[in-house]
Amino acid sequence: MSHTEYPDSYYAASALPHAVRRQLQEDLHTDVVVIGAGYTGLSSALHLLEAGYSVVVLEAARVGWGASGRNGGQLVQSYSRDVDVIADKYGQDTARMLGSMMFEGSQIIRERVKKYQIQCDLKDGGLFVALSDKQVHGLREHKALWEQYGHKGLEFLDARQTQDVVHSERYRAALLDHWGGHIHPLNLALGEAAAVESLGGKIFEQSAVTSIERTAKPIVRTEHGSVQAKFVVVAGNAYLGGLVPELAAKSMPCGTQVIATEPLGERWQEVLPSDYCVEDCNYLLDYFRLSGDKRLIYGGGVIYGARDPEHIESIVRPKLEKTFPQLKDVRIDFAWTGNFLLTLSRLPQFGRLNDNIYYMQGYSGHGVTTTHLAGKLVAEAIKGQSERFDAFASLPHLPFPGGRLFRVPATALGAWYYSLRDKLGI
Ligand SMILES: Cc1cc2nc3c(=O)[nH]c(=O)nc-3n(C[C@H](O)[C@H](O)[C@H](O)COP(=O)(O)OP(=O)(O)OC[C@H]3O[C@@H](n4cnc5c(N)ncnc54)[C@H](O)[C@@H]3O)c2cc1C
Repeated sequence: MSHTEYPDSYYAASALPHAVRRQLQEDLHTDVVVIGAGYTGLSSALHLLEAGYSVVVLEAARVGWGASGRNGGQLVQSYSRDVDVIADKYGQDTARMLGSMMFEGSQIIRERVKKYQIQCDLKDGGLFVALSDKQVHGLREHKALWEQYGHKGLEFLDARQTQDVVHSERYRAALLDHWGGHIHPLNLALGEAAAVESLGGKIFEQSAVTSIERTAKPIVRTEHGSVQAKFVVVAGNAYLGGLVPELAAKSMPCGTQVIATEPLGERWQEVLPSDYCVEDCNYLLDYFRLSGDKRLIYGGGVIYGARDPEHIESIVRPKLEKTFPQLKDVRIDFAWTGNFLLTLSRLPQFGRLNDNIYYMQGYSGHGVTTTHLAGKLVAEAIKGQSERFDAFASLPHLPFPGGRLFRVPATALGAWYYSLRDKLGI
């Protein structure tokens, strides 16, 4: 019997005490079975339990073992492609519908944290920082766009104001999102899992789903048990592997790397005195923030196709030192990698495999808030109100060019082109 434990991350080392759930060893019946205990699965389970459904969650490893327990912890609003792109590609009606939900995910997280008393170091405030004049212009447009869709908590910061909140000389301006913020991602997932169980939901760990029988009352099977349900929610995202071949065909797992410094003590004020989280505006972006115990958590870089790199510190540390030369002597205590799921359109993929098997995946690197929205929308759809879920489900999704063999080099080439443009400021 194989057991998969958490990767050696800062988050696993600072996780609050939590239950170790047993493996599924029996045959169960329930209203809804959820595959995967990341934010997508846990948010779905929680919304469904609140609506009175019985729910079983099957997790291949541990709660929050995937991207949800390893990410940058940034509550970034909207989607990985913004509503202006959605309007251009899919029309005003789709943009209006998706735009009406683009700030909902972070509200859901805040409600969850408050309602279930989740200890996850929630802090308000997120910054998008510009490295070139083109990006400064982009931030102004970004502000106007989000305000058009009802955001009332945005502030434009010029170069001097930006340096007051991020002690780095790299940035020419910033957009401060007071509705953004950051969290300890694994503790959020663990808190949500505890909330699921407090409402009677069952979670099994070390229980990988090996097959889904797509019948009127579907059955999902694990090595030692099965669950028959009225509905299935597939929430395995970048770690789903080949369980659902048609989902694997239109998405690509990608790795991104994160490091955590030693606690900075009083020095944190020389780095990020605002305690906001930060992401830059580059195509291949850097993202960073302080943890609850004032370490700098710094992420960046993308590995298309999601190989696990050997020397993570040597990939990310130079980025950290470029942003904060004052931290050249800092010790790195943790370095880890995690996979997110990229789609060609950079928009999430929601849909149905048949009438009663739902899926949500492919947040393309901006998933902390959208996963929480996804859980709410699938619960609405299962209850019979599917208009909002279907607004996402109707987005067309194409496979990556180059097929399974050449999609990685083809996408890396595209990314290289866009990051070159970022470097040149064009
Ligand atoms: C390093 C990193 C940094 C990131 N930073 C940010 C950020 O700062 N802000 C942001 O918005 N987004 C960020 N993201 C993206 C975000 O974390 C993800 O979009 C989000 O967590 C996806 O949640 P999920 O529940 O869909 O998938 P996951 O959290 O990956 O969960 C999927 C779960 O399904 C389980 N599973 C898979 N297959 C099976 C099976 N057959 N049977 C049972 N269980 C199965 C897996 O074990 C896993 O636990 C980051 C991602 C990474 C990797």
